[in-house]
Amino acid sequence: MTAEQTSSEPSAATGEPLVVLDHVDKWFGDLHVLQDIDLTVHRGEVVVVIGPSGSGKSTLCRAINRLETIDKGEISLDGQPLPAEGKALAALRAEVGMVFQSFNLFAHKTILENVTLGPIKVRGIKKAEADKRAMELLDRVGIAHQAKKYPAQLSGGQQQRVAIARALAMDPKVMLFDEPTSALDPEMIKEVLDVMVDLAERGMTMVVVTHEMGFARTAADRVVFMADGAIVEENTPEEFFTNPRSERAQDFLSKIL
Ligand code: ADP
Ligand code: MG
Repeated sequence: MTAEQTSSEPSAATGEPLVVLDHVDKWFGDLHVLQDIDLTVHRGEVVVVIGPSGSGKSTLCRAINRLETIDKGEISLDGQPLPAEGKALAALRAEVGMVFQSFNLFAHKTILENVTLGPIKVRGIKKAEADKRAMELLDRVGIAHQAKKYPAQLSGGQQQRVAIARALAMDPKVMLFDEPTSALDPEMIKEVLDVMVDLAERGMTMVVVTHEMGFARTAADRVVFMADGAIVEENTPEEFFTNPRSERAQDFLSKIL
């Protein structure tokens, strides 16, 4: 299968491979949760992963961040196999930004401290410099004026934008989003998606698990459809949404569109 269906596709697909999953298998006991996954995400590319609940999308994201180990195959980031432990693993976590459905901010730290903690502790950046960079990022996601508040004082959409700024503060090579808008009230979804679209336009490499098909259509270079632990189909959003090839994808789309 190829993602380059038309010559007008963005150049992202020609970027060098950044995240490569090569014949990856994982089991949870008897459950074959990732089945022979081959996936290459190129530098600057936005890959949207969709599929029914339980198909292995979160496990895939967590494996790229090594929050889950894999049983077979290999995952590499920027040409290096994922490290197993120690300092190298901490460094990897810094290079792979992750945004979850639940925002996971530190409740007893201010918004600013939430964003500067990683750069200061993990990257060894001086506080004044970390503060400056954090304020730039908070400004970018529209939260700079709330920097002194605590997470509970912000709406869900605002907290999620802080979570994105926090991940960006580590200067990640790739950003993983696992259903970042699923826990949000409808009126807050757009403000988070807008930040993600902006990020995509700035050339960030992104893997996004989402049910927001509008985002997939406009921001994705490629849609990957998973079912039962396997990649069933991958294509440009145009092709995928207008002309899904597999019965599983047709069935899924008929239920959500
Ligand atoms: P998705 O994100 O597509 O909904 P997940 O990756 O969360 O799918 O889960 C895939 C399957 O693996 C589901 O059947 C889920 O119940 C199972 N699963 C996920 N995490 C674990 C775990 N830690 N232990 C056992 N089973 C798990
Ligand atoms: Mg999930």
